[in-house]
Amino acid sequence: MDKIILRPRREESILRFHPWVFSGAIAQVVGSPAEGDLVGVFSADGHFLAYGHYQVGSIAVRILSFDEDVLRPDFWFRMLDRALRLRIACGLHGAAQTNCYRLVHGEGDGLPGLIIDYYDGVCVMQAHSAGMFRAKAQICEALKEVYGASLLAVYDKSSGTAPFKAGLDLVDGYLYRADGFTADERTVLENSNRFLVDWTEGQKTGFFLDQRENRAAVGRLAEGRNVLNLFCYTGGFSIYALRSGAVHVDSVDSSRKAMDLVDRNVALNGFDASRHTSHCADAIDFLREVPEGKYDLIIVDPPAFAKHRGALKNALRAYQRLNAAAISKVAPGGFVFTFSCSQVVDKEGFALAVFSAAAEARRSVRILDRLCQPADHAVNIYHPEGEYLKGLLLYVE
Ligand code: SAH
Repeated sequence: MDKIILRPRREESILRFHPWVFSGAIAQVVGSPAEGDLVGVFSADGHFLAYGHYQVGSIAVRILSFDEDVLRPDFWFRMLDRALRLRIACGLHGAAQTNCYRLVHGEGDGLPGLIIDYYDGVCVMQAHSAGMFRAKAQICEALKEVYGASLLAVYDKSSGTAPFKAGLDLVDGYLYRADGFTADERTVLENSNRFLVDWTEGQKTGFFLDQRENRAAVGRLAEGRNVLNLFCYTGGFSIYALRSGAVHVDSVDSSRKAMDLVDRNVALNGFDASRHTSHCADAIDFLREVPEGKYDLIIVDPPAFAKHRGALKNALRAYQRLNAAAISKVAPGGFVFTFSCSQVVDKEGFALAVFSAAAEARRSVRILDRLCQPADHAVNIYHPEGEYLKGLLLYVE
């Protein structure tokens, strides 16, 4: 196995279990590892530190174990089994009212570069590193072992996430399908709400599982309200609002495919179509035309405005503008649920953008709750970068 030798004193973050080795910390690469190869990481004075997947780029090694663990043949099984046990402990696996969750959240589950979402027997994986992409057959075998006969399919959807530099054949497809399972979509239950998940055509792995708890929070406050769900995707927040007795819900997304699924989800849950309207539109343009006071609950859940540090300043300005519009338009005594899923925008930065938005709108605004990602999107305490979803519940007078 090839070796990575660090510069003097650059082992400190690894001794604190941070799972990344940056290229700048490397003194020498011994051998010529290919992208995705397992490499050993050593300190300048020759001490073994960890094993991980090698990759060309700013994150040169993603660590899989700080000991010999990754060399054992049952490594993948044990890691996935451990991930499943956490979901069982949190009441997500085997629950009557919910049968979808994130099984593997990258570094949060000790598997940097790997995402696996579980949709009632169907696992959808996205490799974000060459190493995970190359390990997908082993990962699939381990999933079969972990779930046994209840596993219906494993779908690899890495074409948009795996690094192309690796020169790998990036075509999405099934790694496994149980006999007789031919569907490309599945109806799942989330807190007793039904959602159609289309993993081949949908965004990311097909559904945004990270908003489960925040959708429930909307459900607790939506009764008797007129709701506007901006950036609704397949209507997660809308369905919860309708279930809990919202008078009417308007859902807005620029994706036509997403809006078609919203309509199907409204029907699937048995709601009267007159209580819901779909709008395939730009959310910012839509909000501009909204009469003041029309809605008394507004959800703002845009895509990540900043994908990297360089875009941070513009992203903060965009969050401020969007939130100023939402705060201006909501009825007195109304709620605004506002979110950011940009990893580079931290809680404080987001709160500051929303503070500036409130000041711009010149309304009385109180923070009732601070929202985040749920337990199946766990944050490794040694890798705070894994915290990405943040939100605020605002009460506006
Ligand atoms: N709230 C959703 C997830 C939102 S993801 C849920 O609970 O499932 C962000 C969504 O924003 C995507 O569906 C994307 O299609 C949509 N989007 C991106 N830019 C947009 C724009 N300018 N106007 C409206 N929707 C947009």
